[in-house]
Amino acid sequence: MKPAAFHYHAPKSIEEALALLATYAPDDGRVLAGGQSLVPTMAFRLARPHHLVDINGIEALRRLAVADGRLMIGAGVRHQAFHRPIAEGPLGTLMSRVMRHIAHYPIRTRGTFCGSIAHADPASEWCLVAATLGAEMVAKSARGTRIVAAADYFQGIMTTALEPDELLAEVRLPLLAADTRTGFYEFNRRAGDFAMGMALVTFRVADGVIAEPRVGVGGAETHPRRIAAAEAELAGRVPGADAFRAAGEAAAAAIDPLTDHQTSAEYRRELVAVVTRRALDQAMNP
Ligand SMILES: Cc1cc2nc3c(=O)[nH]c(=O)nc-3n(C[C@H](O)[C@H](O)[C@H](O)COP(=O)(O)OP(=O)(O)OC[C@H]3O[C@@H](n4cnc5c(N)ncnc54)[C@H](O)[C@@H]3O)c2cc1C
Repeated sequence: MKPAAFHYHAPKSIEEALALLATYAPDDGRVLAGGQSLVPTMAFRLARPHHLVDINGIEALRRLAVADGRLMIGAGVRHQAFHRPIAEGPLGTLMSRVMRHIAHYPIRTRGTFCGSIAHADPASEWCLVAATLGAEMVAKSARGTRIVAAADYFQGIMTTALEPDELLAEVRLPLLAADTRTGFYEFNRRAGDFAMGMALVTFRVADGVIAEPRVGVGGAETHPRRIAAAEAELAGRVPGADAFRAAGEAAAAAIDPLTDHQTSAEYRRELVAVVTRRALDQAMNP
């Protein structure tokens, strides 16, 4: 099928894009970034936006930089930018490891990091990164700029705190301390498919016990999130099989898993125990 007819706008500056969104968002105007989620849904006529505001020509949105202890990822930065570590230390390594699980190479050359965060598929790897590490989302509109914390941003299946006239201009991720251990484990049936369940963990080991644990689960519920019960099983404990199994079981018990065309809620709950444990194993034994 072909998309329904739409008006196409190609702003060259952020200000121009915001003005276009202010005018056209009320008439189902949408941002077009990499098009890797939006265009297929338009082709199937599951989405029929009347206006597309194509942000690909805006140079200022291509910024990918480390500043003030954070990694700043502009709306024009594509998945492939993370093929090699983009920042020194654990965050750069983690991002390139996660990126390899996103779709296939051609999709990674077009799709954007911020597009994934705006689209908010429950199984998006970048959304899990943002939720687990506590990203800040920079939302701009003609009304001004606001910063939304990850904990407030993800609200449900493809539902976020972004307003229709807002451009997600940048996402900011905190850099991780040099001794931070990280693990990411995803399960899907075929390489490149969306995750049926995945976990991302970070922690430090201080005086022989786990410090500052973060456990995030994605692909299992309506949106990715940190699981406090799993983190509580880890804090202050000696890293190893007993603590990791307890954290996996706590994560499985804490979630409200989805049933979809891929699998059942029951299976997803079991999967979450396994992916959490394996992510923790990987963090300890990279
Ligand atoms: C076969 C296939 C497999 C895939 N597998 C995976 C996978 O395993 N994991 C995964 O995470 N993704 C996967 N994807 C999706 C891919 O990662 C997309 O690139 C991503 O979801 C959206 O980014 P985009 O830049 O292409 O956004 P677009 O498709 O251009 O836009 C998506 C939505 O977000 C909005 N939007 C985009 N950017 C902004 C912005 N800056 N501000 C406000 N709104 C914005 C658009 O208006 C639209 O509603 C897959 C896609 C395909 C086709």
